[in-house]
Amino acid sequence: MAKTLKIIDKVSFRGTGIHSGKPCEVMLRPGEGSGIFFDLPGGLFPIGSADCDGTRRGTRLTFPDGSEVLTVEHLIGSLAGLGVWSAVISPRGPEIPAMDGSGLVFSEGIARAAGPGEDMKPVTVTREIAFTDPSGGGFISVVPSDLFEITCMIKYETKAIGCQVFEGVVTPETFLEEIAPARTFVLTSEIESILERGLGQGGAADNVLVIDDVVMHAPGHLRIPDEPVRHKVLDLIGDLATVGTPLRGRVVAYRSGHDMHLELSRRIRRSLLSA
Ligand SMILES: [Zn+2]
Repeated sequence: MAKTLKIIDKVSFRGTGIHSGKPCEVMLRPGEGSGIFFDLPGGLFPIGSADCDGTRRGTRLTFPDGSEVLTVEHLIGSLAGLGVWSAVISPRGPEIPAMDGSGLVFSEGIARAAGPGEDMKPVTVTREIAFTDPSGGGFISVVPSDLFEITCMIKYETKAIGCQVFEGVVTPETFLEEIAPARTFVLTSEIESILERGLGQGGAADNVLVIDDVVMHAPGHLRIPDEPVRHKVLDLIGDLATVGTPLRGRVVAYRSGHDMHLELSRRIRRSLLSA
C-alpha cells in the first residue's frame, strides 16, 4: 500500500492562463475518500474518466459531460508529486492558471492544505511497456519497480540546453526540492508558430524561460542549472497522474512530450484491465 495525503483545507490559485492569456482560478477542497475529482457543470468526475490530449503544448482533459480543462499538468503533477490523492478540483476559467510556470506555487499551497490520508493500493507495473515516437525520435518505457523512479533525458540543438539527464526516485521531499521549482520553457524559434496556433497568449517573462541559441533568459537566474529537464519531469509526473492512483514503476523517457506521456498513461491503464 502507498501512504497518501489528502486535501483537508480549501486552497485557491488565481492567475493567467499561459495559452488563453485570460484570468483563471482553481480551487481545491477536501473530497470524500480517495481520488482526484473535478467539479464540473455535469457533476463530479474522477480524473481517470477524462480523455487526455497532449498535442497543444499542454495537457487538456475532456470529461464525460463535455467539459474541457486545459493545462492541468503542473497542478496535478504537484498533487501526485506530494502524494496527495484525495482532492476535489474546481476550475474557473478556460484553463488552470500558469502561476510562475512551475509547480512551486501549487506545491507550497497544497502542502499547507494537506494532511494524512488513507493508504491506497498503487498501480504496479508488472511487465515492461515501451514505445517510440517515430516522428520526433522520442522513446518512453516503464518497467517494474517497488518505487516511483524516473530517468528523463532531453536533447536540444541549442547550446543553452544541450543534453540534460535527470535520474531519481520521486518522493514528496525530492519532488518539492528538485522538481516542483522547475519552470516551463520555450525556444525563441518556436514562439512565432506557438502564437500563430493561438497558444501561449499568456506567456510572459515571469512564467516561462525563454531560451535562444546560447542563453536561457531567466528572470533573476536559473533556479536549478538543469531546470529544463526537471520541468520535463514535472510534466511527466503530471501526465502520469491521469492514471488516477499512485504509480510504482521505473519510467525512462527520452525526448518525450505530453502526447507520449499520456499515451504511456493510457497503456498503463489498459494493462491493468488486461491483468
Ligand atoms: Zn510543463
